[in-house]
Amino acid sequence: MAEHFRIPEHILDAIAAHRQACRDPMAAFFYDLPVLAAQGGAMKAALPPGVELYYAIKANSEAAIIDTLAPVVDGLELSSGGEIARACACSTPRPWVLSGPGKLDADMHEAMTRGVEAFHVESLGEVTRLQAIAASLDLVQPVLVRINPSLPADLSSRLRMAGTATPFGIDEAQLADAVRAVDDAPNLTLVGFHVHAMSHQTCGQRHQRLLSSYLERWPRWRALARHPEQVIQLNVGGGIGVNYLRPYEQFDWPGLCQALGRRLAAMHEPPLVRFEIGRFLSAFCGYYVIEVLDTKVSHGEGFLVCRGGTHQFRLPAAQGHNHPVIHLPRAPQRAREGECRPWTVVGQLCTPKDVLSRQQQLQGVAVGDLLVLPLAGAYGYNISHADFLCHPRPDQVFVRDGREGSAPETRSHRRAEPVR
Ligand SMILES: *Cc1c(COP(=O)(O)O)cnc(C)c1O
Repeated sequence: MAEHFRIPEHILDAIAAHRQACRDPMAAFFYDLPVLAAQGGAMKAALPPGVELYYAIKANSEAAIIDTLAPVVDGLELSSGGEIARACACSTPRPWVLSGPGKLDADMHEAMTRGVEAFHVESLGEVTRLQAIAASLDLVQPVLVRINPSLPADLSSRLRMAGTATPFGIDEAQLADAVRAVDDAPNLTLVGFHVHAMSHQTCGQRHQRLLSSYLERWPRWRALARHPEQVIQLNVGGGIGVNYLRPYEQFDWPGLCQALGRRLAAMHEPPLVRFEIGRFLSAFCGYYVIEVLDTKVSHGEGFLVCRGGTHQFRLPAAQGHNHPVIHLPRAPQRAREGECRPWTVVGQLCTPKDVLSRQQQLQGVAVGDLLVLPLAGAYGYNISHADFLCHPRPDQVFVRDGREGSAPETRSHRRAEPVR
């Protein structure tokens, strides 16, 4: 699979330039910003009328990523004070919403003073705290109630946030109480409902049925409100999966949008539907590039020991998959004549769990060659335990049409001058 994966020329050029500037063997992330903008643009263009696309920045909240997506999407979804700071620093200000469990009073206060569009409330206790903060600021705050709906088992994906016991949202059985609590809060207005039920959904048909199940219940949810006419928005969350093992077989987003459009057109009073997508927006633009430090065979298994590891790219370990690996040999001719064999690709950590991929059939690999792990733009570096074993943090290079820049916060970790 991986050998058929084509890395764009401008990324190869950026990798080569970066490597020249590195004194030590390299481990770095490269982000293809034009590809990121194109993915956002294509996803937005496919939306049916009355449907919006927000970017859930927890997938990748580097400034260059937010700056690239912000002009393309309708807004941003945030879940912490730190994310508020990042969204507010964006060069193109966009509407933003605040969700997530365990919101701090300080963050809710900060959000209101900085102009949050809406809160997604996750519990009855949060309704009380939010009311007090809105009253202290003398404003009326729009909110959506996040629902944990009951879901048939056949609509489930690998990672569930709803339809089962979770800290997220309010059980559908308690929804009437939650709606009443918001309606009784003089400084809160109920404007809609929010459901983010799962992630890693790779089946378009199943996701269609999931969205249909929300739309079926929408009139009932809405009827619980004292002012149903003000309840107009249904946020259906994110959760579109990336096929990491078959990079060319990806979720049929246009198909989902078409089906959703038909479903909404057939409804009497359809809600304004909003997606808040993380992974499927930012995954495709990223590459994690590591250098082979050592090759060895242990008990018959071949290991490529590489610079970096799961402390920089925890994604494959977190998902339990063998990430695709593309081999960039230093000497292509020599590699073509070398042995082809399966390799286990590991990093520098002193733990057997530091595995990026197993069973990678590669030809003529030698120390000093580079390995490229694609699809690394979402939940890659930012979910990793970068300080484990005190290795330096990887560089992050943001490639814009052949001209790249590095993240300001990682510049200090460079041992060579940033590539220009
Ligand atoms: C993480 C998250 C998202 C984005 O999920 P993806 O799987 O990255 O699309 C959207 N909404 C909420 C509430 C989330 O927690």
